[in-house]
Amino acid sequence: MALIVQKYGGTSVGTPERIRNVAGRILATQREGNSVVAVVSAMSGVTDNLIKLSRAVSEQPTDREMDVLLSTGEQTTIALTAMAINALGGRAISLTGAQAGILTDGLHTKAKIANITPRQIRKYLNDGVIVIVAGFQGQTLQGTITTLGRGGSDLTAIAIAAALKAHNCEIYTDVDGVYTCDPRIVPRARKIDVIAYDELLEMAGSGSKVMQSRSVEFAKKFNVPFEVRSSFNQNRGTIVKEENPSLEKVVVRGVSIERKQAKVTITNVPDTPGTASRIFTALADANVVIDVIVQNVSVSGATDISFTLSQDELDKLGGLLDEVVREIGAGTVAEQSGIAKLSVVGIGMRTHSGVAATLFEALGKGGINIQMISTSEIKIAVIIDEAKIAEAANLAHEAFGLAGPAAA
Ligand code: ADP
Ligand code: ASP
Ligand code: MG
Repeated sequence: MALIVQKYGGTSVGTPERIRNVAGRILATQREGNSVVAVVSAMSGVTDNLIKLSRAVSEQPTDREMDVLLSTGEQTTIALTAMAINALGGRAISLTGAQAGILTDGLHTKAKIANITPRQIRKYLNDGVIVIVAGFQGQTLQGTITTLGRGGSDLTAIAIAAALKAHNCEIYTDVDGVYTCDPRIVPRARKIDVIAYDELLEMAGSGSKVMQSRSVEFAKKFNVPFEVRSSFNQNRGTIVKEENPSLEKVVVRGVSIERKQAKVTITNVPDTPGTASRIFTALADANVVIDVIVQNVSVSGATDISFTLSQDELDKLGGLLDEVVREIGAGTVAEQSGIAKLSVVGIGMRTHSGVAATLFEALGKGGINIQMISTSEIKIAVIIDEAKIAEAANLAHEAFGLAGPAAA
C-alpha cells in the first residue's frame, strides 16, 4: 500500500462543488489501494478577505493575532473537505496544523517549520482513515498558532511528505503544471514535463508563484520529489526533482516576471571603504528586503549606487536614506517605481554561452530598454519598464524557443 500526500490549492477548493470534486478525487485515490493525507488551502479569496477585515478594525494588528485570524481560512476547508468525503461514503478526519504535529519557530506570519511529529496522522492512517490537514499553519512549543507565509500550504504538503516518507507528493492546482512562463501572461507557454529543484526555486523566487519558493527549498533540502498538476483533469503534470545530466541539456527552462518593483539610486557616493556597508546596514536594520544592486565604476572618487526592491518595501524607507546620505557625504536619493523584473532560468546556462546576448537582442529588437542587469549561475535577470513586461516575457519566450504551437 502506497502513502500519498496530496495538496489542493485555493481555487481547487474555491466552491462547495469544487470541494466535492476534491473529495471525490481523494476518495478515488484511497480506493485505488493507497493511504492518503490531503493538505488543503483556504478557499480562494478567503485569506485576502481576512487580511482586509483585519485592516478594517486595526491599522497595525499584531502578527500574533494575524496568525490566529488567517489560520481560520484553512480550518474551514479541512472540516468541509472531511464532511464531503464522509458524505460520499468515505472515512475522513480533519486535523489542524497543531494537531498534525507541525511545530514551528515563533516568527509569526512567516514561521519556519522546526519539526513534525505526525503521531495522530499515522494513527488515523493505520485505521484506514483519510487525513485532511490544514495547510499554511503550525504551532510553537508554547502552543501559539503560527502561519508559514503566503502560499504556505505548499510547504505543509512537502514537509508532511518528508516526515511521513510518502511514496508520492502531488500538488494539485488550477493549471496543468509548471509552465515555461505564467500562461496568463504568455498564451503560448508550454507545460514543462520535468524540472530541477534549483530551476523551480529560481523561478518561484523571481515571480512564478505557482509554488511557494520556501516549499521548493524544503523539497530540495530533504530531496522530496513532487508533481504539480491540475485538480480539474487527469493530465500528467510537472515532475520536480533532483537535477541530472539530461535536465542540463536544456539551456533555458522558463521565464519569470515580477511586477511592482521599484528602484532607488544614490548619486555621488564617496568611493571609500565602508560606504556601501553603511547604506545597506541601515536598510537591513529597517528590515528592508533588497533585490538587485548595481554600483557604477567610480569617476573622480565618487560613484552611483542603484538597487531594486518591491514597491511595498519602498514604503518602509521613509527618510531613512536621506539621513545616511548626509552622514556619508553622498549626493541625492532618487526613487522610481513602475518597473518590473524579467528573469530567464535554466541549469543548462552553466555550460552555455550567449544566453545573455540572445535575451538582450530580443528585447532590443522589441524596443525595450534594459535599466539594470543581474546574473547568477542559472539565471539572467533584467529590470525594465513595468508597462512592457508582458511584451518582454513573450519576446524572451520566443527567443529561447520555449513556445508551444500557436492556439487554434
Ligand atoms: P494554488 O491556489 O493552487 O496554490 P496558485 O494561484 O498559488 O495556486 O498558483 C497557480 C497559479 O500560478 C496559476 O494559476 C498561474 O497563473 C500562476 N503561475 C505563475 N507562473 C506560473 C508558471 N510558470 N507555471 C504555471 N503557473 C504559473
Ligand atoms: N491561504 C494561504 C494563502 O492564501 C496559504 C495557501 O493558500 O497556500 O496564502
Ligand atoms: Mg499557491
